Amino acid sequence: VSAFAKGVFVPPDSIFDVTRRYVGDEFANKVNLGQGTYRDENGKPWVLPSVRMAKDIVLDAGHEYLPIAGLPQFRDAAVRLVFHGTKALAENRVASCQSVSGTGALLLAGLTMKKAGVSVKTVYITDPTWSNHNLLFKDIGYEVKSLPYYKDGKFDFESYVAALEAANEESALVMHACAHNPTGCDPTHDQWKKIAAIVQAKNIFPIFDSAYLGFNSGSVDEDAWAIKYFVEDLGLEACVCMSFAKSMGLYGERTGLTAMVANSADTARTVGSILANSQRATISNPPVYGARIAATVLNTPEIAEQWKKDLVTMSTRILAMRKKLFDELQSLKTPGDWSHIITQSGMFGFMGISPAQISYLETKYHIYMADTSRISIAGLNDGNVKYVAKALDDAVR
Ligand code: PLP
Repeated sequence: VSAFAKGVFVPPDSIFDVTRRYVGDEFANKVNLGQGTYRDENGKPWVLPSVRMAKDIVLDAGHEYLPIAGLPQFRDAAVRLVFHGTKALAENRVASCQSVSGTGALLLAGLTMKKAGVSVKTVYITDPTWSNHNLLFKDIGYEVKSLPYYKDGKFDFESYVAALEAANEESALVMHACAHNPTGCDPTHDQWKKIAAIVQAKNIFPIFDSAYLGFNSGSVDEDAWAIKYFVEDLGLEACVCMSFAKSMGLYGERTGLTAMVANSADTARTVGSILANSQRATISNPPVYGARIAATVLNTPEIAEQWKKDLVTMSTRILAMRKKLFDELQSLKTPGDWSHIITQSGMFGFMGISPAQISYLETKYHIYMADTSRISIAGLNDGNVKYVAKALDDAVR
């Protein structure tokens, strides 16, 4: 009998499976609205001009190990990017550790909360959310519970707040700093203030999953508004999990950072040591290439300027595609209210169509999307948006 006899087959991750089916489809005009990766106006992956510039400089930086906590120039620049101008930064209260992209940042966060004795038994996530939140925090050993987040194309603020008010003591709250995945609905500033007040009153530990800073609005500062409100205005301790996958197009380089804001420099020093210890126990030390690119982008003034333009290029194109899809559906008089397409923001749009309609679009039109009816707006372009609108129109009639 096999040592693995008790193992149970785990079905493939549904979004990666959508990509697999898309890649295997031979139809010329197939459309991939599945995986959340930016595409240019020709439907092609886009190497950011700023990243090209940085790659020319990084060229041959060797193959040695990084320190356990990662490339210092990268960590400093990433921390400054979010926390510049804050008391937390001025007072050396931000501990950081380079991570294996945003996913690895969450992993380090979860492990470090445990090792540092943060009193968290339950991790609250949103319903719906990025599917890995549940898997990842459960695997670390937390109880994971969901708070209602979405109703009728909008953030369901009332239900969310009511559930948060009833949350367990000893908990952490995972918030999407901006560009909520999959709904594209973010709290307003006033709503964030109310959420923060509850977090503060209940002593809940805040975790910002920040996979889209700068990608959402084109401005990192604007996208980091909620983080700064919690950390600077309220003076709370918090964790920020960053990814440069979307904002620099460094998907495969796995470039990210966990930042933990503590209430004193002494505590931050301790937390930093625990972050490094969690790193050592899991991946030993982080990948070097993406960190060198990101550090070069952030630390070279003319490349940093180009990066700001690149963020605007990506966010503007996505916004334009939202508008085009919406306008097409309007002119087709497609049944239903589609205004959520233009009120939602970020990479994704939540279509709210049924599983049967989703599979109809795949079989008849070769249009691929997540089984939640989330579409990656970045997959749309002038060449396919009319086709997608017509297909949607057909599917919902
Ligand atoms: N968190 C959210 C909400 C995401 O949407 C993603 C990517 O899709 C991630 C984290 C992590 O991505 P990565 O590990 O590729 O940086």
